[in-house]
Amino acid sequence: RAKQEGRNRYRFFSAEIEEALLTRQALERHIRMGAEQGGFLVYYQPKVDARDGSVVGLEALLRWRNDKNEIVSPAHFIPLAEETGLIVPLGLFVLRQACLDGKRWLDAGRRLRLAVNVSAVQVTESDFCDTVRRALKETGMPAELLELEITEGVLAQDVERTMSVLAELKSLGVSIAIDDFGTGYSSLSYLKLFPLDVLKIDQSFIRDMLVDRHSAAIVAAIISMAQGMRLRLVAEGVEREEQASELLKLGCHIMQGFLYGRPEPVAEIDRCFA
Ligand code: C2E
Ligand code: MG
Ligand code: MG
Ligand code: MG
Repeated sequence: RAKQEGRNRYRFFSAEIEEALLTRQALERHIRMGAEQGGFLVYYQPKVDARDGSVVGLEALLRWRNDKNEIVSPAHFIPLAEETGLIVPLGLFVLRQACLDGKRWLDAGRRLRLAVNVSAVQVTESDFCDTVRRALKETGMPAELLELEITEGVLAQDVERTMSVLAELKSLGVSIAIDDFGTGYSSLSYLKLFPLDVLKIDQSFIRDMLVDRHSAAIVAAIISMAQGMRLRLVAEGVEREEQASELLKLGCHIMQGFLYGRPEPVAEIDRCFA
């Protein structure tokens, strides 16, 4: 019986590994086939000023439509894309798409800030700033409407280099946001060292702030720190009215979360704006 189970388990694991490898290869192939094939899409999630309900910006979030026509979350492919370097062309696709859409909305009279997630791998590329400059120039998107979201992990890399990359990006006029703030390799000295514009309070603190005193204290501390440093604030993962009203009371006005809207395909956003 034990032997039988052992064999089954072995088979189970090998099948699983095989499947994982196949998926990985398929994934890699798909990513390689490139964004122009339509396999990748950009969704947008609104950032809302909770004081008046107005949409002040959108975050571009990558999606993959696999051959079964399922929409796959980036959590499933970003790590592989980073490992293989494929995040570089993928990231460029998202950046260009967000700039194109941002310019289109601007021309239609909607001045929205477009946020694009940038992986550490992209920031390390020697021509990253040129890539951003070119995307802005070719699309006509004003630099001051582009916000790049990086994680604390990016700041923990080669500090000198990161500092000069961020300084160059800032000189273009784009703003820099720290995503998932408080969960990475947080060091308060980063806030002093780097030219940052926005802190995005991580979802985990928002999720727990009404039930856990520690999370509530962390949220309050991040907000007052950001105010003191004249940084803009965004609360991520706001799902409940009570969270929003508590955040408003504490002085954080810009919210992103299912309470205000899920990430949607561009056609859906256009429909809302129409
Ligand atoms: P992120 O940048 O922190 O994006 C926020 C994530 O939280 C999104 O997941 C969004 O759908 C989800 N979210 C928003 N509001 C709520 C809420 O109220 N409740 C809950 N439970 N979740 C909420 P998504 O789209 O699956 O993206 C996951 C992560 O993948 C992103 O986290 C980001 O780190 C990464 N990612 C997405 N697009 C890109 C991209 O174009 N480039 C890179 N490098 N990374 C990306
Ligand atoms: Mg983000
Ligand atoms: Mg985040
Ligand atoms: Mg995240």
